[in-house]
Amino acid sequence: MELNRCSRCGNFYIAEGNVCPKCSAKDDYEFSSFQSYVEENGLTNSLNIISNETGISVKNLNRFLGYEEFQAYQKENNNPQELKNVTGKFENYK
Ligand SMILES: [Zn+2]
Repeated sequence: MELNRCSRCGNFYIAEGNVCPKCSAKDDYEFSSFQSYVEENGLTNSLNIISNETGISVKNLNRFLGYEEFQAYQKENNNPQELKNVTGKFENYK
């Protein structure tokens, strides 16, 4: 058995995924909100603005951007310059 650390609340848990069972419903919800937001608006706004508009924390937005779903999305729908901007802003929040 392997212990994972929840990306949202920091608690340890035994299960698959990036977040603990307690957080997974909210995480799924925010992930799909972010996906719809990106589908409508693209990834041209800074994460700070996206965070204000969606209510999702910048920390969680950064995590979602690293997910496979978004890698595929980014390749299909964004030009490299836009991605570079997003990534550049991402660096500032570390
Ligand atoms: Zn959690």
